[in-house]
Amino acid sequence: MLDIAFIRHNTDLVRAAITNKRVDLDLDALLAADKERREVLAKLEQRRARKNEIASLIPKASKEDRPRLIEEGKAVKLEVEQLEPAVAQVQKTFDGLMLRVPSIPRPEVPIGVGEEDNVEIRKVGTPREFAFKPKDHVELMTLHKMVNWDGPRKFAGGRSYALTGTGALLELAVTRLAVDTLVERGLTIVVPPVMVKERAMVGTGFFPLGTEEAYAITADELYLVGTSEVPLVSLHCDDTLDPAQLPIRYAGISNCFRREAGAYGKDTKGLYRVHQFTKVEQVIFCVPDEEVAEKEHYQLLGNAEAILAKLEIPYRVAIACTGEIGLGQTRKHEVESWMPGRNDGKGAYNETHSCSTLGDFQARRSNIRLRMPDGSLGYPYTLNNTAIASPRILIPLLENHQNADGSITLPKALVPYMNGVEVLRPKV
Ligand code: AMP
Repeated sequence: MLDIAFIRHNTDLVRAAITNKRVDLDLDALLAADKERREVLAKLEQRRARKNEIASLIPKASKEDRPRLIEEGKAVKLEVEQLEPAVAQVQKTFDGLMLRVPSIPRPEVPIGVGEEDNVEIRKVGTPREFAFKPKDHVELMTLHKMVNWDGPRKFAGGRSYALTGTGALLELAVTRLAVDTLVERGLTIVVPPVMVKERAMVGTGFFPLGTEEAYAITADELYLVGTSEVPLVSLHCDDTLDPAQLPIRYAGISNCFRREAGAYGKDTKGLYRVHQFTKVEQVIFCVPDEEVAEKEHYQLLGNAEAILAKLEIPYRVAIACTGEIGLGQTRKHEVESWMPGRNDGKGAYNETHSCSTLGDFQARRSNIRLRMPDGSLGYPYTLNNTAIASPRILIPLLENHQNADGSITLPKALVPYMNGVEVLRPKV
């Protein structure tokens, strides 16, 4: 959410953000609602003041004036009663439109529509040249009995799966490796609730645009989160933080639930796009200073890259274009890992991590305040980045480290997390 005063004074900038981020919002309707809201509110306040004034005048009024004042009091009371719902109505329209206003992309964000307009920044590691025909993760996981594909589809529906045996152990191992890396780097680990109220989804910017992506538990008016970013940011809703508390650096471990409503028919094979997965997510609160936020952003990115380096997975980093960053993001980098089995076996870099700065967008919506050094109240900035998301990360892990006989040589850093096992052998 942006400050309405900022919106009023920077309409060109906001209009450009709406266009470039491809947000469905009529800015003129918002500005008109803002004007009407202020006019009706001013009128209501003025009539309320007159009502109070009359109430105080009546006891002191002369016999001649009293009936006139009583009549005027009745009329003003009626006006107030009529104005109150009008104010509530226009406020509701205004609030609804405000929730759709995007944050302003940072100047370095390329203007573009889709993935093809993201700009690659660097490649790290070189995709391996295989001396044999490499298997994709579906073949490898089947060979190793790492997953049960068919059972879950019968009782849990499409895109469901069960990790079994070494598949399940691998998920725990990569999760633990990521957690230990983040603990070493000073983040506080949190296991947060994954069922949240609507206010957490709105507060973090996932609602109202994006409601179709979330699973709703209607009987209890709760929602399953698509990322622990939602509960981690919401941990501080309604708090007033002290700058001395910042930065706050959290890493949430959670299941994530996504309807993938917009991806119908896409990536239906394997574990690339599923409805339920496990993610370690980093979330930062920092002071509202672009330089500080930028430093935190690159530190978050560095944490994710350190984890990929430990897993010995080649990857590339790209800055996402305006059409590919969400409503609240002011900057986003995507980390794409090399997956030899994608693109019909030709291999491709595909997203495994995304690192975002959101300015004060989430703090404003979540009512997270910051006591500024001059005593005034401001809002902290928030940032987030994936540390590891499984099972997607198992795709490059297994595919890049496979051998001709179908065995998988684990990266050294993962061995202690797999009880010392260095090579995974196919199950007969
Ligand atoms: P996001 O929170 O949307 O930036 O996603 C973070 C990471 O979670 C992605 O880079 C993927 O590694 C993983 N992820 C997102 N959606 C899915 C999904 N439907 N299935 C599997 N992994 C996913």
